[in-house]
Amino acid sequence: MRTSDVDVTRLPRDELREVQDERVRNVVRHAYENVAFYREQFDDIGVEPGDIEGVEDLSKLPFTTKEDFRDEYPTGMFAVDMDEVVRIHASSGTTGKPKIVGYTRDDLDVWREVMARGFRGVGLTSDDSLQNAYSYGLFTGGFGFHDGATAMGMAVVPTGGGNTQRQVEMLADLGVTAICLTPSYALYLAEVAEDMGYDPADLELSTVLFGAEPCTEPMRNEIEERFDATAVENYGLSEIIGPGVAVECLEQDGMHIWEDHFYPEVINPETGELVGEGEEGELVLTTLTKQALPVLRYRTGDLTTLNYDTCECGRTSVRMDSVTGRADDLIIVRGVNFYPSEVESVVLEFDEVAPHYRIDLRREGTLDKLDLTVELTEDFDGSRDDLESRIRKRLSNVLSFSPDDVTLVEPGEIERTKVGKVQRVYDHR
Ligand SMILES: [Zn+2]
Repeated sequence: MRTSDVDVTRLPRDELREVQDERVRNVVRHAYENVAFYREQFDDIGVEPGDIEGVEDLSKLPFTTKEDFRDEYPTGMFAVDMDEVVRIHASSGTTGKPKIVGYTRDDLDVWREVMARGFRGVGLTSDDSLQNAYSYGLFTGGFGFHDGATAMGMAVVPTGGGNTQRQVEMLADLGVTAICLTPSYALYLAEVAEDMGYDPADLELSTVLFGAEPCTEPMRNEIEERFDATAVENYGLSEIIGPGVAVECLEQDGMHIWEDHFYPEVINPETGELVGEGEEGELVLTTLTKQALPVLRYRTGDLTTLNYDTCECGRTSVRMDSVTGRADDLIIVRGVNFYPSEVESVVLEFDEVAPHYRIDLRREGTLDKLDLTVELTEDFDGSRDDLESRIRKRLSNVLSFSPDDVTLVEPGEIERTKVGKVQRVYDHR
């Protein structure tokens, strides 16, 4: 059954559940019959595909992890023969082999459909143009946005990542109306545009689609102000499909997960148990329609909260909050646990500093030390000592932890990411 947009994102939840139950039965059988990894996993715990009658039964199944992808490298997780695969992508790991993902023709159709759904959800039409500043290649970002935008008839400007001056020229000279990129690159692009003598707010851009790395509210606000545009977040990961798993609507109040294709659960990362509705935990996703690479209960490592209330926009599909951190990004210093995003939220409360910071973790003897470096804004002319002590005090109030050293540096001194994901935390321990 192919569900059209209009139905599926606004279906009463019990009707959506029927669609999901039917699809989960199919995908579980497909995975069991065609992927040795899943067959062995099921057999080990004595579960048969018939035991999974709907999404409620998914918790009978074990999780799929990043390590499983690595163990099955390159294509052990594929459920179809290579002659049915029409696209390969790969997601770079920080260590070891990349995770290889594959798509059939129908999988690419689904990908285009969910991407286009997200574009329409923020008011983009075939009259718009999209500059795609995600890198093309094995990374799913470039082709995911490209194909979705092409399918709905937008004019795509495939700049890819990098070459920032050329990006600015294209935006200005072509009057491009939408751009997709990482949030840190959006801010970098604004700086370069200013250096080139443009006011980013004067560009035709109306929509900034950001994703692929965490973004706090203050950072989003800064992107919106500098470009005088609406900035909306999207979420995805290659193992599930790429970008297009979830995207904000114009309410900017959580990202709608396209639940007819991706079934979300939230677990306690320590115990693996499902958390209560509205509680924070690790997002686990099951693909409901993928053919080449069905994935059951994938542990994303991303921490979030789900909201099942009907959105102001009228859509009933569940919304996920911005990812607050990664289960494996947790910083533990002197027995205190926190995520880099929590430090970022505090730093960005201060008007005197720019949204660029870095955290350095060191060990002296047996003692952990944390140094925070923060960049000042151009027009800062106050007392540095005073600002340092206010940042320190605020961090101590919010995180019950104060950095050993707070360093304020001049605008532009913290290294920028030109492409890809920004690194905020340097662990030298
Ligand atoms: Zn909405």
